Amino acid sequence: MTASGRGQNKRPSPGLLCVVCGDTSSGKHYGILACNGCSGFFKRSVRRKLIYR
Ligand SMILES: [Zn+2]
Repeated sequence: MTASGRGQNKRPSPGLLCVVCGDTSSGKHYGILACNGCSGFFKRSVRRKLIYR
């Protein structure tokens, strides 16, 4: 999944950046700041009990 070159009109939230790809985060997902795309990725990771440190 690529998240580059997408011109979505998101509302900027200073200080809320996805820790994975640096995109604008919509909030905390599973304890980390992640965008919508990455939150789905982490959702899978949590279910598979993969821990990222
Ligand atoms: Zn992301």
